[in-house]
Amino acid sequence: TNRELEIQRALRGLRARLSGSLIEPDDPLYEEARRVWNGMVDLRPRAVVRAGAIADIDAVLDAVRRSGMALAVRGGGHNIAGHGSVDGGLVLDLGPLRHVQVDAGSRLVTVEPGATLADVDHATAAHNLAVPLGVISGTGVAGLTLGGGVGWLTRSNGLTLDNLESMDVTTASGEHLHASGQENPELFWGLRGGGGNFGVASSFTFRARPLPPQPLGGNLFYRPEHWRNALPAFAAWTRDLPDGMNPITSFLVFPAEFGMGSDPWMIIGFVWVAEDQQAGLALVDQLRAAAPPDEEEVGPTSWLDWQSAMDSVFPKGSRGYWKNVSFSRLDAESVDVLLSFASELAWEGTGIDIHHMEGAFGRVPEDATAFPNRSARYWLNVYGFWRDPSEDERLTAFARKAYGLMRPFAEHGEYVNFLGAEVGPRGVDAARAAYGPEKFRRLAALKDRYDPHNLFRLNHNIPPTQA
Ligand code: FAD
Repeated sequence: TNRELEIQRALRGLRARLSGSLIEPDDPLYEEARRVWNGMVDLRPRAVVRAGAIADIDAVLDAVRRSGMALAVRGGGHNIAGHGSVDGGLVLDLGPLRHVQVDAGSRLVTVEPGATLADVDHATAAHNLAVPLGVISGTGVAGLTLGGGVGWLTRSNGLTLDNLESMDVTTASGEHLHASGQENPELFWGLRGGGGNFGVASSFTFRARPLPPQPLGGNLFYRPEHWRNALPAFAAWTRDLPDGMNPITSFLVFPAEFGMGSDPWMIIGFVWVAEDQQAGLALVDQLRAAAPPDEEEVGPTSWLDWQSAMDSVFPKGSRGYWKNVSFSRLDAESVDVLLSFASELAWEGTGIDIHHMEGAFGRVPEDATAFPNRSARYWLNVYGFWRDPSEDERLTAFARKAYGLMRPFAEHGEYVNFLGAEVGPRGVDAARAAYGPEKFRRLAALKDRYDPHNLFRLNHNIPPTQA
C-alpha cells in the first residue's frame, strides 16, 4: 500500500541521516531494544532508534510526520504504563545521550534527555550538590521530571520539576524552543507536570542544592506486631517536622540478599539534610521513644550509596502495576484501613510507600506548574517488582484493592508518573482526573498550540481540543 511504501521510504531516509542506529526486528539487538523496565509491557515496534546525537530528534520527527508512524519517546524506559514502546510504530530511545554538566559556582546542572538519576547524582556528588530526584537510580531523568519527581529531597526542596530552571524542547512541527520562567513561560508551565505532550525535551537545566558531605540517613525497622503502634507514631511525628527531614515509610518483604528474613517489615526511612546533625538526631530520638524499633541503622551516609540502596530490588524486566493516592488524614480510621491491606503482604514483589509531603513541596503555589495537588500531606504508593508472569493477576488485583480501599481518603488527583496502562478513552479520563478540570483545560490549550495533530500521544494524553 501507499502507506507501507511511505513508511519504508521514511525508514530508509532515517537510517541514512541518523548519528545513532536504527534497529529493526531482524536485528540481534531488537529483542533488548524493544523492552522497557516493566516486563509486563510486550510490544513490537516497527523500529527502534537509538539516538546518537541530539540532532537525531529532528530526523525522527521528520520521519514520523512523513509516514504517520506512531511515536514512542523513551528516556530511562521506566514508565509503568508502557509508553516507552509501541506496537508497529517507531521508538525514539534517547537513552544513549546521558551527558551531565555541572557548574559548581552557579549550581546549574544541565542534563541530556537519556541520563539516569545515577548519572546526575554521580556528577553532582563530586561537588557536594544534589538535584532532588527519585529513589531508584536507574530511573530516567526525562520522564521523572516531566511528570513530577518525588524522592528523598521532596520536603526540603520540592519535586524534581520545582528545581528546573529551563528546558530545550523540539515541538511537533520541528521548532526548537527554549522554555523558562522568562522565555515561553506558558510552555514552561505545562512542561512541568504535563509529561511528554508538547515536544521532545532535548535538555534540562536544574538548580542543585548544597548537600552536607555526609547527610544523616537511616531506617527504623518494625516487625508486624509493632505496626499498630509505629504507624500512628509516624503520623504524630510528621505533624510538625522541619523541612530538613525527609521521611518515607515502607512495607516490604525484602529480597533474600538483604538478609532480612522472609517476613514483611515496616521501615521508617529518612534523610536529614540540614547542616546541624544533632538536631536531626534529636528528631529521630523523639520517634524512637514513641515507637522503639526492632532493628535500626542511623548515621552519616554517602549520598551515592543512599540513592542506590534499593536498586537491586528493581531490575529491568520486573513486572509491575502501580497505584498512587494522595491524602491528608493519617488518623485512626485510615491507619486501620492501611494496616488491613499492608498486613496481607506476605510475599516479595509488592511494596507500599507512604511519603510525607508538605515542606518545600507544599509551599509551591498550586498554579505555578501544571503538576496537580500540592495540598495533600501524604502520598501512598503501591508498586510492583515481581518476576513471575503467573503472579500478574493476583498482584495487580492487590494493588487495585489497596487503591480502592484508600480512595475514600483521597484528596484529588493522581500522580501521572505512577498511572498504569489506562489506554484509549479511559486514558484521557485518567489524565483528566489526574490534572483536574482547570489544569486540563490550560494544558489542552498548550496542546492545540504545540501539537495540534497529537503526534505526541503515547503518554498520559492531553488531546488537542479540535482532534
Ligand atoms: P520513559 O519510559 O523513558 O519515559 C516516560 C514517558 O516520558 C515517555 O513515555 C514519554 O511520554 C515521556 N518522555 C521521556 N523522555 C522524554 C523526552 N526527552 N521528551 C519528551 N517526553 C519524554 N517516580 C518518582 O517520582 N519517584 C521515584 O522515586 C520513582 N521511582 C521509580 C522506580 C522505578 C523502579 C520505576 C519503574 C519508576 C519509578 N518512578 C518514580 C516513576 C517514574 O517517574 C516514571 O516511571 C517515569 O516515567 C520514568 O521516566 P523514564 O524517563 O525512565 O521513562
